[in-house]
Amino acid sequence: YNDRDGKIWMDGELVDWRGANVHLLTHAMHYASSVFEGERAYGGTIFKSRAHSERLLGSGVAIDMPIPWTVDEIEAAKQEVLAVNGLTDAYVRAIAWRGAGEDMGVSSSRNPVRLAIAAWEWGAYYGDAKMKGAKLDIAKWKRPSPETAPSHAKAAGLYMICTMSKHAAEAKGCSDAMMFDYRGYVAEATGANIFFVKGGEVHTPKPDCFLNGLTRQTVIGLLNERQIKVHERHIMPEELEGFEQCWLTGTAAEVTPVGQIGDYNFEVGSLARDMVQTYEKLVRG
Ligand code: PMP
Repeated sequence: YNDRDGKIWMDGELVDWRGANVHLLTHAMHYASSVFEGERAYGGTIFKSRAHSERLLGSGVAIDMPIPWTVDEIEAAKQEVLAVNGLTDAYVRAIAWRGAGEDMGVSSSRNPVRLAIAAWEWGAYYGDAKMKGAKLDIAKWKRPSPETAPSHAKAAGLYMICTMSKHAAEAKGCSDAMMFDYRGYVAEATGANIFFVKGGEVHTPKPDCFLNGLTRQTVIGLLNERQIKVHERHIMPEELEGFEQCWLTGTAAEVTPVGQIGDYNFEVGSLARDMVQTYEKLVRG
């Protein structure tokens, strides 16, 4: 991703893609003082763009790193990045971090808070799983308690266990891992929320220690419109056996059906397919 043409917005200026570098003594690289967003533009319009910008600012506050830009400024910057790179259907990555400066210890309050926005074309996150259903491993790492980490923030530090879980999953031929939380309840995948279907009703973990994804909220809205009952609740691991369908939601993942989690199998059923298609229609306006 570092060697390509294009422009990246950094701290208010467009810089060459290959020159969008930071110093080795960037605080974020040593101590994970970084928050980010993943967004998708469809036909030139970023789906829920303002909500993403608002979440970015909220994540900054959550990790004690207020970002010195407004939602309107971030909105304008994202549009500038799409336009200058000639992109209409693209993934947009905004990232804010503590830069290099006065401090190199754990404290970083004197270092600048920086912001950058990049965008590129990015196809289906789980390849052909939209048709066949993704295969998930069960992660050994547990999502932390909200008393252990600001678990509602989209903060880089929370992704360390996600990357490790995803690597372990890929080594077993899976495309992702389902993670339990610190209490043993079903939580989410490494970069997407999870839904289950049983007897025509939908069950999804209560987002009390992980990201309440914007796609998750959108899909719950779509299910409500169809008058399909959605239970947001704590889900026990032994319940996996009784669920008939399963899917993941996320900006990158969109709606992706799941065919297997560990030894449990799910059908890529009519409601899962319906959600894939309805979400696709919605984001394309
Ligand atoms: N959980 C995690 C850990 C994620 O990284 C993401 C992707 N941002 C999601 C859930 C889904 O969030 P959203 O629908 O807002 O993209």
